[in-house]
Amino acid sequence: MCQRVLSAILLLSMLVSAPGYSAVILQYHHISEQTPSATSTSPERFKQHLDYLKQKQFHVVPLPELIKRIKNGVLTDDKIVAITFDDGYRSVYEEAFPLLRQYGFAFTVFVNTEPLDRGASEFVTWDELKEMAQAGGTIANHTTTHPHMVRLLEDETVKQWQERMAREITAAQKAIAENLGQSEKLLAYPYGEFDAKVTALVQQLGFTGFGQHSGAVGVGADVLRLPRFPMGANFGELDSFATKVNTRPLAVNEWQLLDDDNRPLQEAVITAGSRPALLLTLAQASLTSHLRCYLQGEQLQLEVDGSKVTVKAGQGLAPGRSRFNCTARAEDGRYYWYSQPWLVTGEDGQWQHES
Ligand SMILES: [Zn+2]
Repeated sequence: MCQRVLSAILLLSMLVSAPGYSAVILQYHHISEQTPSATSTSPERFKQHLDYLKQKQFHVVPLPELIKRIKNGVLTDDKIVAITFDDGYRSVYEEAFPLLRQYGFAFTVFVNTEPLDRGASEFVTWDELKEMAQAGGTIANHTTTHPHMVRLLEDETVKQWQERMAREITAAQKAIAENLGQSEKLLAYPYGEFDAKVTALVQQLGFTGFGQHSGAVGVGADVLRLPRFPMGANFGELDSFATKVNTRPLAVNEWQLLDDDNRPLQEAVITAGSRPALLLTLAQASLTSHLRCYLQGEQLQLEVDGSKVTVKAGQGLAPGRSRFNCTARAEDGRYYWYSQPWLVTGEDGQWQHES
């Protein structure tokens, strides 16, 4: 009897941790044709996305539930999607919300509480958020003022920075709790920017952190830097959307960032002109031959040694945000995906990008 129970537990644990099971988190900003194209998805295209998810029988789950499942190792199928919006723009209430209601799909809105408190016109109001929350929406943390979290102010000490960032997070959390009664500890990093000191603070505060780099999530994912597929501009074209929601995480046993001279880098923060590299040890060595990596559309050279792959930037990176996107097409046509974001300062080490 005892043996049988043990076998059942073993079988169950094998099932829930099967490598094929994963989920995809989608990231939208505006659902509008009037707003900047890089961060906008038209209402018509958004409806096409929802139609696709419905017709292909995806399970659109609330983000808190998905995170619980990832942390507990209980992903029981691989057609799981979570829908998220950053910033809480007006069109989320006016265009997306009615459609999400119609389809009965769960969603999360990450908001900055400072512009909401002052009633800034491009954003939803607390009353509208209340209506969305009452309809089952999750309202979560995108900090108070949308800072570049990795940056210290001039003359600021690390301790002062820590206190400022902790306030950014806890004050937003408090405002959401007071206005809406919700307290999910989910944080979307403004601009998708984070580094080791940011993730350490976020971990200390007990939050799960979301970036804006592409990829799927599976059991064992790093919950301080979860990828989401951005859906703005042509990233949300229907073919591309179908590929992305069917993506799996590329399982890696180890990863290491390297500088120009292939020495280990502690951070994905580099200066302009650097040519960093990423060393991946794939869990599935057979995928190395299918792996293709890109930086802003340019295919990157790969060095393969057994299950280890080194991906190196072909040219010096420009100031701002960059990403290595690596994909491997499996035999069933689905893609395994791994993305590495980089934050690039000017050559003098000063930050140059504003948004
Ligand atoms: Zn944002």
